[in-house]
Amino acid sequence: MRPVLSVASECAPLVKTGGLADVVGALPAALAATGWELRTILPAYPQVLAGLEDGAVVGEDADLFGGPARVLFGRAAGLGVYLLDAPHLFDRTGSIYLTPEGDDWADNPERFAALSFVAARIADEGADGWRPEILHAHDWQAALAPLYLQERGNRRVPTILTVHNIAFQGLVPAERAAALRLPPGGFTPDGYEYWGQISALKAGLVAADRITTVSPTYARQLMTPEFGMGLDGVIRARREVLSGILNGIDAAIWNPAADPEISRFRTPRGKVRARDALLELTGLPDGPGPLAVVVSRLTDQKGLDLLLEALPALTDRGGRLALLGTGDAELEEAWRAAAAENPHVWTRIGYDEGLSHRMIAGADAILVPSRFEPCGLTQLFGLRYGTIPVVAMTGGLADTVIGASPAALRAGVATGVQFHPITAEALAAALDQLCDLFADAELWNRMQRNAMRQPVGWDVSAAEYAVLYESLADR
Ligand code: ADP
Repeated sequence: MRPVLSVASECAPLVKTGGLADVVGALPAALAATGWELRTILPAYPQVLAGLEDGAVVGEDADLFGGPARVLFGRAAGLGVYLLDAPHLFDRTGSIYLTPEGDDWADNPERFAALSFVAARIADEGADGWRPEILHAHDWQAALAPLYLQERGNRRVPTILTVHNIAFQGLVPAERAAALRLPPGGFTPDGYEYWGQISALKAGLVAADRITTVSPTYARQLMTPEFGMGLDGVIRARREVLSGILNGIDAAIWNPAADPEISRFRTPRGKVRARDALLELTGLPDGPGPLAVVVSRLTDQKGLDLLLEALPALTDRGGRLALLGTGDAELEEAWRAAAAENPHVWTRIGYDEGLSHRMIAGADAILVPSRFEPCGLTQLFGLRYGTIPVVAMTGGLADTVIGASPAALRAGVATGVQFHPITAEALAAALDQLCDLFADAELWNRMQRNAMRQPVGWDVSAAEYAVLYESLADR
């Protein structure tokens, strides 16, 4: 097995706030099948440290960004992990990024710079005799690692930065460059400087040997002003080393035939018990229209304000909607209010993995009206469970769903509904189309069977990462 060091701020099932964790957690098993051994370095948050088995100290720092630190290696949830145990940075309760009041921790730049700094050291010097052939960093929290490695003078270990969401860039006031141990000479437009500030993500975009993102469409979109969020020029300049590799889902955890959370099924007709259970759980009445669900962070990105506007297109036709989500207070309140006003809407504010399985299994459709979506995972879960996705035509949503266009319907290959432009009107039209499709039982069953057969696991994408690793390590 050839060694790769993966660097990230979250990793399922140990610690998760979104799809980043799913992917970082799934890559080691997916790549093992292709001959690569991924070890992941993570912060030793209390909940992660508690799950460590056979932990051994493999590194120590008297002063790592303001306090002592140790690096432990061991196994957690079946994964080989290095944990950066720096209590002054990571021994905190609450969210991994936010204070109990909901603000970013003021020292987030130092916390994740420390992670990146130690990752670069392990890539350069090895840890306890283990030396990676590649350093693979994920998102801004790990994006300084390629720069630190470069600064160490190491040109032997190639680096990859994967962008899971360009909206998060790790901007830091310029005065903190020295505290972050950044090379002063790099504070330029060609380096890590961004409009007078430090950008951790930009540092990685400039320093990494390769850049990947999580779908081919998002890779193209990142080079446009509309989606590049200010970094489109930087990415265009590096288009030769940019590629999009779709995320897969963990087909063992998301398997309707073996899912312990639900009444299991193998065919669309077998969904009926899971559907009944969802109606019972939510108290929603049955009706002639589809039972739709949303499982999502509640942020502007996800377009759920558009859904509030478009909702009558579903509920006026006898459809129902159950939403599980947490995030912006304003959206949470608006969705609570929608449920209070409309007996065909049910809202659960919170984060609940088990419930997300029961909802996705029991529903007829899953709605993902995102304004932008690097890949998106819930539409993939939906496909696997014969739950028809209704998605905005953007990013990975465009790449993973075969929309029910006349051509796709005639060819008998449709697996979902897509809409564009990303407006409440177009979403309403898509919900109307959903109701039409649902009313045609034979057509609907065909779409469900197509959906359940569509490959959404890691096989293809893992092979693409393996090709990338090989091309870099053997150069
Ligand atoms: P993002 O990373 O932008 O949040 P993704 O679709 O890539 O979006 O990944 C979201 C992940 O988080 C999925 O695994 C989804 O099921 C899960 N998720 C989001 N919100 C909730 C919630 N409230 N309860 C349970 N799981 C959730």
